[in-house]
Amino acid sequence: PAAAAATAEEPIQPAVEVKHTQLLINGNFVDAASGKTFPTLDPRTGEVIARVAEGDSEDIDRAARVAEGDSVDIDHRERCRMLLRFADLIERHAEEIAALETWDNGKTLAQAAGAEVPMVARCIRYYAGWADKIHSLVAPADGAHHVQVLHEPVGVAGQIIPWNFPLLMFAWKVGPALACGNTVVLKTAEQTPLSALYVANLLHEAGLPEGVLNVVSGFGPTAGAALCSHMGVDKLAFTGSTGTGQTVLELAARSNLKPVTLELGGKSPFVVMDDADVDQAVELAHHAVFFNQGQCCCAGSRTFVHERVYDEFVEKSKARALKRVVGDPFRSGVEQGPQIDGEQFNKILRYVQSGVDSGATLVTGGDRVGNRGFYIQPTVFADAKDEMKIAREEIFGPVQTILKFRAATRVLYFLACGSGMEEVIRRANAMHYGLAAGVFTQSLDAANTLSRALRAGTVWVNCYDVFDATIPFGDYKMSGIGREKGIYTIRNYLQTKAVVTPIKDPAW
Ligand code: NAD
Repeated sequence: PAAAAATAEEPIQPAVEVKHTQLLINGNFVDAASGKTFPTLDPRTGEVIARVAEGDSEDIDRAARVAEGDSVDIDHRERCRMLLRFADLIERHAEEIAALETWDNGKTLAQAAGAEVPMVARCIRYYAGWADKIHSLVAPADGAHHVQVLHEPVGVAGQIIPWNFPLLMFAWKVGPALACGNTVVLKTAEQTPLSALYVANLLHEAGLPEGVLNVVSGFGPTAGAALCSHMGVDKLAFTGSTGTGQTVLELAARSNLKPVTLELGGKSPFVVMDDADVDQAVELAHHAVFFNQGQCCCAGSRTFVHERVYDEFVEKSKARALKRVVGDPFRSGVEQGPQIDGEQFNKILRYVQSGVDSGATLVTGGDRVGNRGFYIQPTVFADAKDEMKIAREEIFGPVQTILKFRAATRVLYFLACGSGMEEVIRRANAMHYGLAAGVFTQSLDAANTLSRALRAGTVWVNCYDVFDATIPFGDYKMSGIGREKGIYTIRNYLQTKAVVTPIKDPAW
């Protein structure tokens, strides 16, 4: 009822003005070639925030040609300084940027301002540090040859980002691409075009030459597909759903075989062992799935709980979900805002229905909150079975699915034949996704066994959602190809060239 009251109040007016709604091509804000625009909506109400230029293949072509011609060789020291100035500008405008992100996406202002904008600045500074540290190599080849291995920019990087972390995805992609000396054509998600345009403008204020970064707002099948197929684009980095990732890879292969990195969907296990402090485990498991309205590719959305602590865990998870404060994301104290749009909202409610129909126990939630916007009650299912849809498919919403497992108790880990954790390892891995996993235990042996056995790009032990810029993030199986962040993204944005010259007098 408290949540319903909060969402029934008049939405708080965001303290920011929408300044940029056009495409950013060659350093200028311009209309789409077609003159078309599309609305971007406030998820709190479904009302239009602004109309934004709708780029399509003609605009992608314009942007890619500019980027090709404009691979201005910015000196590496200047690239470093420019990215550092950019990070400073992000901090100076942090309040407006966070407000824009909350308005367009529905995430809480506390999260956008307190966590995401600082992480964006940190990520940009981290990659600024790389700009003057990209070394080439000399290969110790047999024979009388001097072999240099040059690490050159790839050229034009095409980048496509989703709506759940618009700014952070901008930073993860644009930061390393520019640090390595590439030019960029970025397509934002149609649900959240505003923050990228705002910060791209700041990047120009920081000294970025015109045409090095081009931002095209628009839809997937038009602008997105045109970017994937463009013959002048040398590399693609995509974050989004697994189905779209497959299309992206196909379009890249059928055009010019541009290399592709993909960050896709997930259905990550969060394993709670019997030695866990149940209160702490409940809190962390709750955070792992409900963070960002449950709209995280790495959400810990299959909560596996040891049978010995299962009943207590379910009871306390219900209490925690009931306490979760849902409401206007601009209001302080609110933990959960609205889902991104009507499509996701309806999809989540369909999954809830499927959970009920398939016989899982709906412990709490399951309905909308209020009667406008896209708010959903924090929802907990218990007694779920591995084969149920809610335990197999990515819900991308505030829905926790709790599954019970059996394993040898702590003292028996040593005595048991094997680790005693075979069941949970087998069930956690029986999934075509492999993005992340969480482990909650006091046992070093259990932590070591599980973190090695779970097939996932990240395993968080007694923590979750730790996203420092230095930590590689990426995927096993159908959750994608490649890694982002840390040194690993640097490799994605460099081409390797061997230069071989004979050595006249090998004696020296
Ligand atoms: P989506 O795949 O529909 O859209 C993502 C982006 O791809 C958008 O910019 C969209 O316009 C574009 N797109 C859509 N169709 C396209 C096409 N045919 N060609 C080229 N581009 C196209 O995904 P979504 O529903 O918006 O985002 C949610 C999904 O993203 C979830 O599955 C989630 O797990 C995943 N995701 C993954 C990560 C990660 O790092 N692994 C991060 C965030 C989101």
